[in-house]
This record gives sequence, structure tokens and C-alpha cells, in this order.
Amino acid sequence: MRVHIDSTKCAAYGTCAERAPAVFRLDDWGYAALVGDSSVSPADESAVTEAAAGCPERAITITS
Ligand code: SF4
Repeated sequence: MRVHIDSTKCAAYGTCAERAPAVFRLDDWGYAALVGDSSVSPADESAVTEAAAGCPERAITITS
């Protein structure tokens, strides 16, 4: 699984970083960024899927 954040859509709600802190972090302005690269470990896939579904702006895209 790979994950992408569309920074043009992110509105800094922060819920992604709460749901999957191993994958998402917030920058100094509260906008989402990736902790590492776009690859998601199997252990984090469930949390990332929840984070994507819970993003109010639909800014998170998951690909295989
Ligand atoms: S949940 Fe969505 S809008 Fe909120 S910080 Fe994460 S990517 Fe941005």
C-alpha cells in the first residue's frame, strides 16, 4: 500500500495524524505531511485506511 496527501486539499484538521501517527505528522502550520516515504507497512494499513476515510477534505489517496 502507498499513500499520498493532496496538500491543495488538506485543511489542517489533524485527524489523520491522530489516527495513524506512524504515517502522518502535522507540519508547523498544522497541515499533514508523511512521516516517511509513501510506502505503508502492513501494520499501519488499517490505521491509514481509517485516516483516509476520515479525512473531511478527502485529501488522502491510497494506492496499491
Ligand atoms: S485529515 Fe485530511 S484535512 Fe485533516 S490534516 Fe489530515 S490530510 Fe489534512
